[in-house]
Amino acid sequence: MIAIIEHPRLGRVLFDCGYGSALVNATSAGARMYKLGLPFVLPENERIATGADRIFLSHYHPDHIGGLRDVSGAPPILCSRDGLARLRSLRGIALHRAAFFPELLPDDFDARAEAIEDLPLVAGIGPFEEGRDVAGDGSLIAIALPGHAAGQYGLLCDRRVFLCADGAWLRTNIVDRRWPAWPVRALVDDYAAFTGTLEKLHALSKSHPELQIIPSHCEDSIAAYGQHG
Ligand SMILES: [Zn+2]
Repeated sequence: MIAIIEHPRLGRVLFDCGYGSALVNATSAGARMYKLGLPFVLPENERIATGADRIFLSHYHPDHIGGLRDVSGAPPILCSRDGLARLRSLRGIALHRAAFFPELLPDDFDARAEAIEDLPLVAGIGPFEEGRDVAGDGSLIAIALPGHAAGQYGLLCDRRVFLCADGAWLRTNIVDRRWPAWPVRALVDDYAAFTGTLEKLHALSKSHPELQIIPSHCEDSIAAYGQHG
């Protein structure tokens, strides 16, 4: 899933970039294995035809950064510096297991990257006690969602919608505390942290039932937002 958030000062904020031509064309051993294990077809309507004023990356998995090179212009990219540093330190099997393919990042990535960790610390929501103020007005708050992947953040929008990326796979993982099966577990970075994040998402869904929590891969949540959002 990708999302576009219109903000009065920041403009069009693109939340993740989905699959993209760079992933389709990637030839590294890791990328080829990934595409064999998790084949995909790039839907025409997921191509990012229009530009963005800023990109927010939830994490560095291929289905979230694969379209980065397709975004026109060179907007700043808000992302986790700590997560990227850890991924760049990995070698061999650990790198493959993390499913991080550096060739998906644009050549000017480092010059455009802005660290979420440098944003002002503010109150979070529910059991997520703190977050980072993306827009300076409290309307967009980055919330750390550790466990699934290095440096994963979700984005709380107007305290009304919480884009929780892959903090959960499906809404049922959160509401029913039904933990996902393979391949989600196989790709998890830190299983203890992952289940801790799921427990917090579950508690948040109970304490804030009005909040729309949308996992990136949950078509039911996305459809429900389309109807009621
Ligand atoms: Zn992921």
